[in-house]
Amino acid sequence: MNLTQNTTKIYFDVASIRKDFPILSRTVNGRPLVYFDNAATTQKPQVVIDAITKYYTHQNSNIHRGVHYLSQVATQAYEDSREKIRAFINAEKNHEVIFTKGTTDGINLVANGFGRKFIGAGDEIVISELEHHSNIVPWQMLCEEKGAVLRVAPINEVGEIVMEELLKLLSPRTKLVAISHVSNALGSVNPIKEIIKKAHDLNIPVLIDGAQAIQHTKVDVQDLDCDFYVFSGHKLFASTGVGILYGKEEFLNKMNPYQGGGDMIKTVTFEKTTYNELPHKFEAGTPHIEGGITLGTAIDYVNSIGLENISAYEQELLEYATEKLSQLEGIRFIGTAKEKASVISFLIDGVHPYDLGVILDKMGIAIRTGHHCTQPLMQKFNIPGTARASFAFYNTKEEVDVFIASVIKAAAMLK
Ligand code: PLP
Repeated sequence: MNLTQNTTKIYFDVASIRKDFPILSRTVNGRPLVYFDNAATTQKPQVVIDAITKYYTHQNSNIHRGVHYLSQVATQAYEDSREKIRAFINAEKNHEVIFTKGTTDGINLVANGFGRKFIGAGDEIVISELEHHSNIVPWQMLCEEKGAVLRVAPINEVGEIVMEELLKLLSPRTKLVAISHVSNALGSVNPIKEIIKKAHDLNIPVLIDGAQAIQHTKVDVQDLDCDFYVFSGHKLFASTGVGILYGKEEFLNKMNPYQGGGDMIKTVTFEKTTYNELPHKFEAGTPHIEGGITLGTAIDYVNSIGLENISAYEQELLEYATEKLSQLEGIRFIGTAKEKASVISFLIDGVHPYDLGVILDKMGIAIRTGHHCTQPLMQKFNIPGTARASFAFYNTKEEVDVFIASVIKAAAMLK
């Protein structure tokens, strides 16, 4: 067996894991695919692809409404998946798990359902400089509508939130803190537990954007004690167009629904509508049923490997790639926080990241280039963008070697 190991640890059989992901054996531009764009979206294992086919072959029906057999089968599968997700993030209650379209949708839900009700003129929302546009723009829109103020905690030169500065921003005016768990552009892992604790000391609720954390590390929402936690299915080896908002029951119950329509109501007359119980109050309309069900399948798959193993293996890949890349002439890393997930953003002197990305693509290597939906962060570093390689547990050191040899070749062509 080709076990992936360092001197002390054996995590899992990466060669056999790679066989679970059919796309990894394809070629791109005549070369074996090296997929290092996992922060943008992850590839799907065969079990998830099979579950999608199974749903449309054997289970397809609308949920929650039908008395007929297929509707009950689909409803059961959807609700079973909600329970798997609850267990995965250790939410206390099943109805604290709301299906959404993804991270962006979850943040917009909270901005509308919580923000429009509880945030008013002169109130403040605290975010950080390293947020994704999804965790900036919905708050800006809310502030504009309500006359509230967006306060931004700075980061230091290595890409870590400056805690003392963030704490200085918390005051009786602060009505919400919204912070990412892991930065998509830099890989920094933020000290969210500490931030949540400090905010709670002042009775300030906290939303965590977990889009870049949920696939790398164990998330326990009760241990974190966050009030909201959002993530996307497609970054967790499941479909696009489905995601999760975890919210504490006490907040979800107090919030207004985000959208009106079918499923989210108890009674409707032309005079008045009463809303359904949680979680349905926030799930208007026919949802992404297949996506919801197969997110549960993806979670089963991740559990079968173990997030501890995934984290440890990805850390090893990160260290290996960082060490090798640091030997390249003219390289500059953007984001060198002490705690990092498996994301490397970099620039090479005299080489535009876009050109590097195009040439690497010709060599079968997928990386991301540009501002990574973090324009204010790029402005902070005074750069237009970076080249970003982001790893998942199906990537290998051999792929890192191919990537580095290709970067050297591409840089020589471009300089
Ligand atoms: N937040 C972070 C940190 C992200 O990395 C992303 C996507 O890259 C998002 C939010 C938005 O996720 P989605 O486009 O799946 O809604």
